[in-house]
Amino acid sequence: MKQITVKRYCKHRTPTPSIDATYSLPQKVKFLLDALDFIKEEIDPSLTYSHGCRSGICGSCAVRVNGKEQLACKYKLESNDHIEALDKLPIIKDLVVDQERALESLKRAHTFFQPPANSAQSPQELERIETQSDCILCASCFSACPVLEVDSAFLGPFALTRAYRYINDSRIDNAQTTIDAIQTKGVWNCTLCGECTLVCPQGIDPKNDILMLRTKSVQAGYSDPTFGSGGGDDFLSGGLDPNF
Ligand code: SF4
Ligand code: SF4
Repeated sequence: MKQITVKRYCKHRTPTPSIDATYSLPQKVKFLLDALDFIKEEIDPSLTYSHGCRSGICGSCAVRVNGKEQLACKYKLESNDHIEALDKLPIIKDLVVDQERALESLKRAHTFFQPPANSAQSPQELERIETQSDCILCASCFSACPVLEVDSAFLGPFALTRAYRYINDSRIDNAQTTIDAIQTKGVWNCTLCGECTLVCPQGIDPKNDILMLRTKSVQAGYSDPTFGSGGGDDFLSGGLDPNF
């Protein structure tokens, strides 16, 4: 037998809405999603989680295991694992979160497809956006991003990765609108910590996409709003030896 702990959440539970519940599972249960199915079918039908394709494509079963974002259908279970809902998003029940806030960032970043006049695309042009197009909107990167911990208005990694995808799409003729939309609480607010890249199940590198977006922004006439302010100004006005 192996044991796992699931952080259960119910807003009506008193005195505290969250509790850790430990479950024993047969050794043959291999993947986390199978374990959640086993608990629901054999132990407690009230356990609530979401899933869809069961093959790492739909992104709906993302949770945190021992503090790191994983897709439940792809994660191989270890004894004593601790399972909890994604972070930075309101929990509806147990492992199900309300993704509205994360998906809203896609609208704010103007990252949606508008049918172009000419939809022809060469294989080379397609290749330029292929990696970012693989995003399954699992919100794992959103959950892992430390900036969202302190600034809930930050667009977050997957909206910015999508922005990069649309800006680079040869069929899109309004890339400037997307570049304009990511200047506020977007491309310059990222700390480039790389946590988003570490957890992406699709091998996407939002941190690098954000770096590329900064270059695109500068080419479009924007600059880092923090550059030359704060410490930099102090250094130039007060710290620099005039005889240097
Ligand atoms: S690299 Fe930027 S977007 Fe990614 S987790 Fe860090 S702060 Fe968030
Ligand atoms: S970039 Fe990766 S981690 Fe983020 S939502 Fe898309 S697939 Fe998930």
